[in-house]
Amino acid sequence: MAKINVVLQKQKYNFFGKKIKRKEFKISTKKRVWMKAGGNDPFKWRTDFAKTSVCMSPKCHKKLFWDKKNYKFKYKDKYPSNNSEINCLLICNDCCKKRSVIAGKK
Ligand SMILES: [Zn+2]
Repeated sequence: MAKINVVLQKQKYNFFGKKIKRKEFKISTKKRVWMKAGGNDPFKWRTDFAKTSVCMSPKCHKKLFWDKKNYKFKYKDKYPSNNSEINCLLICNDCCKKRSVIAGKK
């Protein structure tokens, strides 16, 4: 019976029948993406962290403030097990609500 369950719930399990874990973005990943989005050198996130950044949605470019938390870090693709920088998207709260706008643009 256990095996049938695995087949039915395919997306939650990997090839070996192991449950795919959702991985949160590391703070270092978030800060590097934040720096890059704001046009800053992502490698300076430790020493020269910028308090402001910009929404990564091509039609938005709203100013974001690190302390205000008017932004969200989202997964670009549908696999939350991929928590790499490439899969991390920085968008404002407004764009988060209308996520489909971004999904159409790759
Ligand atoms: Zn936005």
